[in-house]
Amino acid sequence: MKSIQFDYNVPRYVFTKAVGRISNSFYWHTRLSCLRLREIEDMKLPNDEWVKIKVKYGGICGSDLNLILLNDSPKSSPFVSFPFTIGHEAVGEIVEVGKMVFGFEVGDRVVVDPVLSCQARGIKEQCTACKKGHYSLCENKHEGNISPGLLIGTCRDTGGSWGTSFVAHHSQVLKLPNDVSDLNGVLVEPFSCALHAVLQNPPPKNSTVLVVGAGVIGICVVAAIRALGLDCKVVVLVKHPFQQQLAEKYGADEVITLSRTNAYLQQTATALNAKTLNPVFGSPVIHGGADIVYECVGRKKSINDSLQFTKSGGKVVLLGLASFIDGIDWTTVWLNELSIKGSFAYGTVNQEGEQLRTLQLAINLMQSGKVDLSSLITHRFPLEDYRKALETATSKSKGSTMKVVLEP
Ligand SMILES: [Zn+2]
Ligand SMILES: [Zn+2]
Repeated sequence: MKSIQFDYNVPRYVFTKAVGRISNSFYWHTRLSCLRLREIEDMKLPNDEWVKIKVKYGGICGSDLNLILLNDSPKSSPFVSFPFTIGHEAVGEIVEVGKMVFGFEVGDRVVVDPVLSCQARGIKEQCTACKKGHYSLCENKHEGNISPGLLIGTCRDTGGSWGTSFVAHHSQVLKLPNDVSDLNGVLVEPFSCALHAVLQNPPPKNSTVLVVGAGVIGICVVAAIRALGLDCKVVVLVKHPFQQQLAEKYGADEVITLSRTNAYLQQTATALNAKTLNPVFGSPVIHGGADIVYECVGRKKSINDSLQFTKSGGKVVLLGLASFIDGIDWTTVWLNELSIKGSFAYGTVNQEGEQLRTLQLAINLMQSGKVDLSSLITHRFPLEDYRKALETATSKSKGSTMKVVLEP
């Protein structure tokens, strides 16, 4: 089978990191890069509790780009095993079923919760986090009967969605109803990240929310707030003009486009009913702001904007994948007693007394017509054209890019 693998070794890492400063394309064009398209043996079911899934679409996530552009902090490296096939966003069809798997058949259209927590790892005594259904916080991400890996797509034993097929434990697999399209299916995972962030940190009634960033995750946060029927004003700060329409389409009340000048500060302050004050020097100081800010970029500017646009006592939720960042102004955090909360992946949610996987809630919302994310898929590429796919995914404004998917 074909697979796009990430294989780390020190010389390759150092070389690509050095030349990558010249152009991103070095990360996938040189022979010494950590990324390659390989012919590998089919993934084997680790045991009878697993299934094999043939991939229809595999999404390119911001975290995959961070990995390829070598932006990840070494702190996440104990939770991967090399070489691995990239890709944790997937929709596909079951092609093999282990003997101890019940309720799934060959031919079922499915999506996958990629988190490799206690149950998938064959750990009998589940950790405290898993017992509570907080699978993304599992304490055993590097234990059990499979190699380390936070997710399918970071573990050498499972494969990933940037390959012809991969394997998943039956507990991770969810059936996709006929009336949910494959294009929505491949977005169940990113949409679940947004649902998780919103449900863990719900905007209070009649509050004002700011979403910083309108890539797929930012738009999914807006869509999640609306699909869940939460009563709040949603303001979105976007970078690219093409993102404005999408933010509006998915339910933003006001959309502000970033500007090189301070004009956007004034516009955002007005939208949030905040004041701008003049400091002794530098850009205006924002006084007041949103009750809750969802930071969906993970860069210096977006984090600084999130911190300055949160009102006293408010909360900033970090969905963007920040690692090492210099130049963050923390003043407002203590001055305004802000809460900062991280958000990673998903687990389970309680809906009307029933505990279900966040991904199942995403599917239910899609099936009931409360959300249709298919228009976020702007590009599709065969696996062989992965370099073109990565060029497209990393130059958003050029192709008005939102979600790029591979078709292995
Ligand atoms: Zn992702
Ligand atoms: Zn666990």
